[in-house]
This record gives sequence, C-alpha cells and structure tokens, in this order.
Amino acid sequence: MKYSELFAKTVKTDPKDEVSINAKYLMKGGFIDKLMAGSYTLLPLGHRVVSKINSIIREEMNMIGAQEILMPLLHPKDVWNETGRWDSAKEVMYQFEKNEKEYALSFTHEEIVMDLIRKHTTSYKDFPVKMYHFSTKFRNELRAKSGILRGREFMMKDLYSAHVSKEDMMEYYWQVADAYMRAFVRIGFEPVITEASGGVFTSEHTHEFQAVCETGEDTIYLSKDWKFAKNKEVMTDEDHKKPDLRTHKSIEVGNIFPLGTMYSEKMKAFFTDRDGQQKPIWLASYGIGPTRVMGTLVEISHDDRGILWPLSVAPFHVHLVGITNQESGIKTKAKEVYKRFVEAGVEVLFDDREDFAAGQKFADADLIGIPFRLVISSKTGDNVEMKVRNEERAELLSVDAAITKVSQAIKDFDSKALSKLKG
Ligand code: ATP
Ligand code: MG
Repeated sequence: MKYSELFAKTVKTDPKDEVSINAKYLMKGGFIDKLMAGSYTLLPLGHRVVSKINSIIREEMNMIGAQEILMPLLHPKDVWNETGRWDSAKEVMYQFEKNEKEYALSFTHEEIVMDLIRKHTTSYKDFPVKMYHFSTKFRNELRAKSGILRGREFMMKDLYSAHVSKEDMMEYYWQVADAYMRAFVRIGFEPVITEASGGVFTSEHTHEFQAVCETGEDTIYLSKDWKFAKNKEVMTDEDHKKPDLRTHKSIEVGNIFPLGTMYSEKMKAFFTDRDGQQKPIWLASYGIGPTRVMGTLVEISHDDRGILWPLSVAPFHVHLVGITNQESGIKTKAKEVYKRFVEAGVEVLFDDREDFAAGQKFADADLIGIPFRLVISSKTGDNVEMKVRNEERAELLSVDAAITKVSQAIKDFDSKALSKLKG
C-alpha cells in the first residue's frame, strides 16, 4: 500500500478529550477516528489490525469445532423478558420504542442463542452445539475515558456452547480457555486467567483473561507463579490472608462464563435425553473484545514515539521509506524494492510521499509502529537499511537478505510465541 494513497494520515496534535494512551496513539497514527465519546470508526490501518486479530481468533475457534454465524443486533423486548434481563440489565442495555414496539440493541446474545437452539434441536443427539459470531455490541458505558478499551459500541467475538450435562459443558469450557490463551499469545501477549464474578450474566464464578498493565481499570491478586489469580471483586477474607500475593492493575480482554441451566429453564429450552426424559440444556458463553485487544496492545507496547505492534497483527510487516528528495534514482529504486517485497508476500506500507523530510517520515513510521522499517536513500546503494521498531541499531542488507529475514520472522512468530506460554 502506498502511504500517499492511504486514507487518514498521521495527525500532529493530541486529540481533545482523550486521556488514554491507546486513544492518543491510535488517533494520531490514523488507526481510528472518534465520532463521539465511546464511538470510533476503524480506519483502514485500524481495520487491518482488528481483521488480523479476528483471523487469529477465528482460526482458534474453528480448531475447537465451533461454527461461525451472524446474529441480529436489533432485538425484540419479548425475548429479553423471558429471562428477566430486560429489567435486570436495563442499565447497560440501550432500549427504545418505535412504532409502539420496544426494542434493544444487542449488548450480548445468550437469549438469542437460546432461542435459536430451542428451535433447532430436540434430542441429545443434536448436542453439543458450538456457535460464535463477530459483531458489534452496544453498551451504555458510563465511564468512557479509556479510549477504545471501553466503547459504547465495540466489536466482540462471542462463542456459545450448549451441552447435555455439566461435565460436558465444563470439559468444553476448559478447551475454550486453552484456545483463548493460544489466540492471545499468537496476537502478541500473555494474559492471566483470573477467577471473577458473573455480573449480569450469572451468579456462578467466571474466568477472565486479564492483561497485566499499569493503566488497566481492573485490580487482580496474583501469586508469583500465577497459580493464584483472582479479580479483587471475588477475594474472600481467607484469600486476603494468603502470603506473597501481589495486586496488579490489569485490562480484561476476555471472559468465559459457565452459565448452567438458568437460561434454558427460564426459556423452556429442553432436550430429550437417552432415557426419554426432558432435561434443560447446559449453556456456556465466552467473549473476547477485538477492539479492546487492539487498544490493550497499544497500552502494553509503546514508547514515547509511538506504537510497537507485534508482527502477527501489525497493519503491515514493513514500513518502506524512500528518501526521494535527495536523488532522482532513489524513487525508482524504492519502487523496485516495494515491488520485490510485495511479490514475496510481505505486506508493505510504502511512504512514497514527495516533499516530506526524512525526519517527518521516520517520526510517522515510529508513531504507526510497524515492526520493520526499511530505508532507501542515496547512502544505501544496492542495499536497504533495515531497522526493527524497538531497536536502535540499523543494518545494511541486500534486498534478498531483507526479504528472507522478514519472511522468516513472519513464519516463526506463532511457534516462538506459543513455546513461551507459561501454563
Ligand atoms: P468490563 O468489566 O470491562 O466492563 P465486561 O466484563 O462487562 O467488561 P464482558 O461482558 O465480559 O465485559 O465482555 C466480554 C469481552 O468484551 C470483555 O472481556 C472485553 O474484551 C470486551 N468488552 C466488554 N466491554 C467492552 C467495551 N465497553 N468496549 C470494548 N470492549 C469491551
Ligand atoms: Mg467480563
């Protein structure tokens, strides 16, 4: 992609009314645009990052046998009344009236999934059911000061699984926990699995995936080996007596809920078991917020010049800068190098802008945060100058060697990340 053609270039001034690092860098870098508090557009750069995050999550979901669907976001009141959540979740749900009927904008989908399952299953043979979708969620968030970490409208990948027994449900629940961990690690960070409460979803305990981060809104208690990990909200007096626990600020990037039979009992979703008896369906749900994950990456991985994306979800692998105002031959050379990289399957953002000082181009490259920076200038001859975003030293390489190095890094990313997994 030529930077000259990219919609939404970098912005010099800090955005108004944004205090968070993620909003500042994402807005200044041209990744997102703000429509109003808690409401952002994913611009082409931001959309590329979120799409890559989604692809990794999708691969992990498909690997554990889940099937992708897409559910409506506009819901009738009736279905929410079946579980009582029209009233109990009133605070978080956008509800409104139109043509004398009441509706809600989706803040989650348990009721919609339950309705689907009761319509399309009858016997134990129809289970387990594992379905997920990626879609927008609407929530009446009161604290909208964390940039894209807390949207009032945001992207969620939510998975739902339905089973004939608690054992079945829990077995899959832990499979999903593994898949989530793999997804996060492939995306570029390792969160902690912590015990937490169920909010408006369940009275059972749930598990959150928490990224340790000073700017996070959550507080978790952790032992050194991460074996003990609880959200502050579920700490008991006994827990507080444990030695060597430390508190950390953190960002919740995922949450899994072993819901049980509350939803099926209220919505009369039964199946016929082997013994001919009618029994309630066991439901679990699992959420990850890809837009919050993008914001989290910025919060945990940046310096005073800008973002440092992991290679797996960076908008491009390489940021190619041509210092074109020095010599006419440089422009042609930069174009050739661009073509070579693209042909080799490397994603390149090519800063082909004329009349821009090298310093400005480098500052933009640092702000945008693509892992590899390549420079073609009057000094590089037949070679290219390559620098990794978080290293100071640059090296001169042949075009072939540079392509090999980047391609190898792309190929190795997953296995390297997964091999470092603690658990
Ligand atoms: P929080 O406690 O931070 O408000 P939550 O517990 O209400 O979040 P869940 O219902 O567990 O959120 O949603 C599942 C996932 O969706 C979260 O783990 C998070 O990644 C994402 N998410 C939730 N709320 C938001 C939001 N307002 N903006 C962006 N992502 C969100
Ligand atoms: Mg949660």
